[in-house]
Amino acid sequence: MTNANSPLALVRSTIAEANDLLCSVNLLTWDARTQMPKAGAEARGKMLATLTRIVRHQLTSDEFAERLARAEEGAVGEVAAELAQIREGTDVLRRIPARLLSDIAELKARAGETWQAARRNNDFGSFAPDLERMVGLNRELAAAIGFDEHPYDALVGSYEPGMTSARLATLFEELRGGILPLLAAVKERGAEPDTSFLSQRDYPITSQLKAAEQFASLVGYDLERGRIDRSVHPFEISFTRDDVRITTRFNPNWMPMSLFGALHEAGHALYEQGVKPDYARTVFTTDLVGLYAVAGTSYGTHESQSRLWENLVGRDASFWRAHYSALQAIYPAQLEGIGIDKFVRAVNAVRPGFIRVEADELTYNLHIMLRVELEMALMDGSLAVTDIPEAWNEKTREYLGLEVPSNADGCLQDIHWSTGLIGAFSTYTIGNVMSVQWLEAAKRQDPNVAPALERGDVAPLRTWLQENVYQHGRRYSPDELLVRATGQSLTAAPYLDYLARKYRELYAI
Ligand code: ZN
Repeated sequence: MTNANSPLALVRSTIAEANDLLCSVNLLTWDARTQMPKAGAEARGKMLATLTRIVRHQLTSDEFAERLARAEEGAVGEVAAELAQIREGTDVLRRIPARLLSDIAELKARAGETWQAARRNNDFGSFAPDLERMVGLNRELAAAIGFDEHPYDALVGSYEPGMTSARLATLFEELRGGILPLLAAVKERGAEPDTSFLSQRDYPITSQLKAAEQFASLVGYDLERGRIDRSVHPFEISFTRDDVRITTRFNPNWMPMSLFGALHEAGHALYEQGVKPDYARTVFTTDLVGLYAVAGTSYGTHESQSRLWENLVGRDASFWRAHYSALQAIYPAQLEGIGIDKFVRAVNAVRPGFIRVEADELTYNLHIMLRVELEMALMDGSLAVTDIPEAWNEKTREYLGLEVPSNADGCLQDIHWSTGLIGAFSTYTIGNVMSVQWLEAAKRQDPNVAPALERGDVAPLRTWLQENVYQHGRRYSPDELLVRATGQSLTAAPYLDYLARKYRELYAI
């Protein structure tokens, strides 16, 4: 039993308080995106900033540093691992000047507005000055955090510990080598699946909500410890494992948006709901650098779970062979006369387009590579902000074979850069790649997983993920977690095999 006044107990109680405050930040964020009247935005921004500042102040105080140093003396095993993670996080936090963070926060508020107006008016020039300042502040941030080779490494490392621009460059090259020929073959085949029944029939919002709840529960999302709401941009957010909420958006003329959106967010939620109860209010459910209460160990690992449930399970023919009748029961008139094969082909249709959030599985990573390569060039100074539109359009031509019609549909389409998020895009592709590694490992290690999936039974897969991923929270780094469970660190080959198998079959190539 540790004494309540021992340095270890005091360190832990500070972390527990930080987690409580960051869970409150999450709750206020959830409210802002689902319930809050528009007029509340300014006051809400202040509340969020104050709470985050208090947490930051506590974690970077000299008093805390002293207690941490005393707690570290003689610590071994699990306690040493826990303290090492607190040390690592708070050391980074102490290196970032408070002035820099408030500059970024201030610019974020303004750049969000200028970006929206610029996109509306298709006027990149009016956003460029704010973006230039944002890039400058991010370069300062990278310098403060520290890096070995490339300033981008410091930024990506805060979302994906251990990831670097060099590792990404290798990964991207491998992915391009597999994806581009496959995409060319699909295009050449020219067999466009019919998707009109998904867009041209009326799918009432009430039925869409019912389907979202039913299918999110079916994969294991526990609605006793969660709820589904509606928001402009779908997201998952948690305030401890016992309250993990998701949102989805409903388009009456494109039913798959809410269905697969719900499966995606349910995948994130399974991770958060599955963390070991003992890890509540500890560093293993707290991102000390991002000042964010979260159980997932990195953005990419989190995304690997949402993509696994959305794409690998949710878009697979075997899943629908077992569950299509349940979907038809929700949409009896809309899906009348639509067979399973037709449905599966429609929800897996490949359509190269300009817009990332509408991209299919095959072209999605090309959108990400394009952005990440520009981010790296912005960070090392080899690309000027004013040259972004040209560079963007050129890469779109090269990767997707498309001519960008306007900057609004090109380099102005995403909110990320206006909010200062540089480095986060890569984690979407990392998640895609990782998702197949998990699934393959689960099938290899538990012979029940594959036959159960064939019958539409996801329980054995979920159990394996619970055991190997979810319960561990942030205890291991993404690389450690992957190697422990699958025997390999991040590798493109299984993902490329999966894509080739899937699209060769769907498009009869
Ligand atoms: Zn996601």
